[in-house]
Amino acid sequence: MQFEEVAKAFNEIEKRSGRLEMTDLLARIFEKASPEEAERIAYIIQGELRPPYEGIDLGMGEKFVLEAIRKASGYGKSKVEQEFESEGDLGLVAEKLLGKKRQQSLFQTSLSVLSVYNSMFRISKAGGSGSQGMKINRLVEMYNNATPIEAKYITRFVLGQLRLGVGDPTILDALSVSHEGDKSWREPIERAYNLCSDIGHVARVFLEDPEKIRDFKIEVFKPIMPAMAERLANPKEIIAKLGKCAVEYKYDGFRIAVHKKGNRVEIYSRRLEKMTHMFPDVVAAVQNLRPREAIFEGEALAFNEEDKRFYSFQETMHRRRKYGLETAAKKYPLYVFAFDLHYLDGEDCTTCPYLERRKKLESFLSSKGTIKPSTMRIVETAKEIDSLFQAALSMKLEGIMAKDLKAPYTAGKRKFAWIKLKKSYGQEMDTIDAVIVGYYRGKGSRARFGFGGILVAVYNDETSRFETIAKVGSGFTEDEMGRFQKMLEEDKVKRPPTNLDYEMDPDFWVHPRHVVEVAYDNITRSPTHTCGREKGKGLALRFPRMIRIRDDKGPFNATTTKEVEEMHKFS
Ligand code: ATP
Repeated sequence: MQFEEVAKAFNEIEKRSGRLEMTDLLARIFEKASPEEAERIAYIIQGELRPPYEGIDLGMGEKFVLEAIRKASGYGKSKVEQEFESEGDLGLVAEKLLGKKRQQSLFQTSLSVLSVYNSMFRISKAGGSGSQGMKINRLVEMYNNATPIEAKYITRFVLGQLRLGVGDPTILDALSVSHEGDKSWREPIERAYNLCSDIGHVARVFLEDPEKIRDFKIEVFKPIMPAMAERLANPKEIIAKLGKCAVEYKYDGFRIAVHKKGNRVEIYSRRLEKMTHMFPDVVAAVQNLRPREAIFEGEALAFNEEDKRFYSFQETMHRRRKYGLETAAKKYPLYVFAFDLHYLDGEDCTTCPYLERRKKLESFLSSKGTIKPSTMRIVETAKEIDSLFQAALSMKLEGIMAKDLKAPYTAGKRKFAWIKLKKSYGQEMDTIDAVIVGYYRGKGSRARFGFGGILVAVYNDETSRFETIAKVGSGFTEDEMGRFQKMLEEDKVKRPPTNLDYEMDPDFWVHPRHVVEVAYDNITRSPTHTCGREKGKGLALRFPRMIRIRDDKGPFNATTTKEVEEMHKFS
């Protein structure tokens, strides 16, 4: 398959905002692709070369791409820079200048999907001295054979700026449509994706043989998408919803998924990033566990015997830096409170009911080890839930998690299989996790920071679009204002993100990447925001204030429009 076909589809997608149109355009591409090509195309749409948890980075900055465009086009440095200055997008510069190339290469061959992918992959692998030159040369080689539209998308891709506005759900829909003409395959495809977090692998398996997707198996070292919890306001509502259920402490630590096969252990974060290097003590403890193969999940945090309280992961890391690893590790030892089991010695446990998974988990963990089972009780009344909730708070924990005894593990989904009850629910303050899409220049006393606040959005997972919900100007310390300005400056884009619905223009747009936790008093209707818009009015946060950056979440894990609508109903 020629890369030009894919580039043309990208160009069309960019002009459309409707999810259905995007799905159809992608489906047509998957229809024509071989399984191998589909795998690569799926990664490229995600802006990746391999599943994100492998952490492969192309590592090409603007300076080097500018140099490659100069070399391939034959124009001088100042001309290329001048074009960049006026276009603000190197993709457009490449399209324009390579379209009227000053030097024609002699042996032009057309680019296939596989050859483009392979070249990009080689660029990503180049390291050591002279690697930048080698990367530039590879890019020049691609440019020499590229049509202008191919050059545009190759450029944006190597810069990490593809930004098609196509979310994973659209890719999953497109796979189904490519095979059956409708979304009837979406569910098994999505399940497979949630069990391996590798969209290329799923696309390839599906195109090879759709039936294999129905029977998809989890594998150690392919991280599973974390299940998420719904929320309810009080113990009474929980009992009404679940009846007899399990209640666990809700630990405010760092969520990790542990994968073990023999002596090899890997640890993945909630965002599925490999974090093994940060947990040497946990790795050693896992190596000593009885099962040969296992995948389980838990929260990592410290507990101090003297004051009998838990310390959040952030506090733990801070103490480790302050007192040195040795002393801190003794005084504030890090534990993992394991709360779920996905795989055990060849058996996929995700389809087992909660209680069965829990029993298996407890069978190889001890409450005395570094890796302990989370505290859990089976309860039947709201009063019992309340007393566990109070006990959790007295130990400086966040609250409790109630769990449906019969539910399977709902990978990648927010379901009532888990219900969270947190300290803040009983008080005035509630929070959402929102994505920063723009920011404001500071005025008055804030002018010296160049930062006056952020425009934030939630994610509508039905339309795959971001919708604004608040302008957040308070809750920032002076120190944070400086840090935010620096962080957001790097992500500044000239035009609003294509997958954003907005009414308000911030001073600067940014690529939706950073997630922040924002507190608010209540949710009201307002014409200036687009979240869950009805009759021209969207949902907006009243008195929003910044709480913290959520590094553990990516933009598509932000609070969804549907959740905000639910919270609005309750408020
Ligand atoms: P929050 O902001 O409330 O922590 P979240 O958006 O990070 O929530 P949710 O799915 O809404 O994620 O809440 C579940 C989170 O609670 C999990 O991500 C996990 O990190 C944490 N957690 C702590 N203790 C438990 C437990 N016993 N069982 C399941 N999850 C737990």
